[in-house]
Amino acid sequence: MKKDITQNILEDWLENVRPYAHDGQVANYIPALSRQNPEELAVAIHYVNGESVEAGYTEATFTLQSISKVIALALALMDNGEEYVFERVGMEPTGDPFHSIYRLEKTPGKPLNPMINAGALAVTNMIHGDTPDEKVGRLLSFVHDLTDDHSIRYNEEVASSEFETSFLNRSLLFYMKQHRIVTGSVEEALDAYTKQCAIELNVCQLARIGALLANGGRDLESGRRIIPKHLARICKTFMVTCGMYDASGSFAIKVGIPAKSGVSGSVLASLNDFGGIAVYGPSLDDKGNSVVGLKLLELLSNRYDLSIF
Ligand code: GLU
Repeated sequence: MKKDITQNILEDWLENVRPYAHDGQVANYIPALSRQNPEELAVAIHYVNGESVEAGYTEATFTLQSISKVIALALALMDNGEEYVFERVGMEPTGDPFHSIYRLEKTPGKPLNPMINAGALAVTNMIHGDTPDEKVGRLLSFVHDLTDDHSIRYNEEVASSEFETSFLNRSLLFYMKQHRIVTGSVEEALDAYTKQCAIELNVCQLARIGALLANGGRDLESGRRIIPKHLARICKTFMVTCGMYDASGSFAIKVGIPAKSGVSGSVLASLNDFGGIAVYGPSLDDKGNSVVGLKLLELLSNRYDLSIF
């Protein structure tokens, strides 16, 4: 049944949600993102058997933004081990906006999970590498392995646009440095993080990452292990509990697929035994999730019974 989502069917589903393209707003707190076109919609499914289908404007590239948090977490766990990472970053959902500083005062300093900005900034800081460029270089090589595509880079304009305006993220870093969750220079930590968020790809490449996670961390074609299975499981679990900002609970009920969204309007979904689904639709709802992405995933999940619950 699930494999019945063919190219033509996927095109029809995308047309069904196209009327929502202008609901919500394109992110504008990162100046470079405000130039995204809300009418550029795309979706791709990469099945675990290696086949793929796609629809819409699939040439569109976008920056990963918060989706990069899943990838950075996998690499930081591979670099440092679970104990080190989770001594510094927790495992619990927050229900607060992604850039909230409020809980840091209570914990104290230890972010509640790696999918909010505080946790993600701490995680990127743990990736091995002496300089921001070394960390980002290792992260890019990891993305090349995940996508089997060595052409992927980060978008310099988006990275510097965020770096220049990212005062809340700087505050989170200073707060965590005070509590020794973050080490080294705050500016360098932010440099690595904003470049990580600006890694740029398309829905086909992103869907392949979802499929690899669904495949327990093994490359779909070669069978090479890229992420240890138990770490792929941890990443997917965080996608369920905190992947869709503070709409993760309603998303679990309405869609029920492990997923992570980013403020560029992209969503990465990963479903064991099925594959990866990537959607791009830049207009965001008030929680920061792609309106078209949510609608399309909800329709597909209901029609093809994709919920894990
Ligand atoms: N780079 C963005 C930030 O830190 C990512 C936010 C997101 O996609 O949720 O503000």
